[in-house]
Amino acid sequence: MLKIFHPDLKRCDEYNLNGSICCDCGCAAFHIKLFADFDNKNIPHARRYKNGWSLVIQAVCKDCGQKWTVFDDSKHGYNGYVCHQAISVPDSELKNFVCSDCKDSVFKISISIETEDKEQFLEEVVAYEEDKFSEDDYVDAFNGIGIDIECLHCGKKEPGWIAYETA
Ligand SMILES: [Zn+2]
Ligand SMILES: [Zn+2]
Repeated sequence: MLKIFHPDLKRCDEYNLNGSICCDCGCAAFHIKLFADFDNKNIPHARRYKNGWSLVIQAVCKDCGQKWTVFDDSKHGYNGYVCHQAISVPDSELKNFVCSDCKDSVFKISISIETEDKEQFLEEVVAYEEDKFSEDDYVDAFNGIGIDIECLHCGKKEPGWIAYETA
C-alpha cells in the first residue's frame, strides 16, 4: 500500500478507503506525471505500450522532489498485483500533467480505494498461492481506484479524474 496515502478514518469502511496523499516531508502539493491516453474531457485512460496496456500515475513532491508511484497498473490492484496483467512502463515514458484551465502543474491529490473482500481473497488467492500471498495482501489487491485532483493555482477540481477498475 502506498506509504504516503493517509486514509481519513471518518470516511472509510470495510470496503472503501478514502483519503489524501501527503509526502514524508509534510508537503501535500504534487506535480503529476503519468502514462495514459486522454479522452476529450482530459480524463486519463490506459494507454497502449508495446504489446500491452498500462496506466501509471506518479506524484512528485513540490517541496522535496521525491517521486511516489500513486498507481501502476502492472503492480497495483487485483489485476496488477495478483495477475500481472498490465505491462510495466519506464519512467522516461511518463508525461507531465497540467491543469486544463490555467496550465499550472501543482495539485492536491485525493484517493479512494475499493478494497477486495478479505474472505474472498483468502479463498481465491491465498489458498492457492500461499508462498506468494498472505492475508494482509488483500489491501493491495484492491478492486478499483479513484483519484480526485485539485489545481492549487486556480482551484479547478477534477472529481473522478481517475475511476479505474482493477479487477
Ligand atoms: Zn516532499
Ligand atoms: Zn489550474
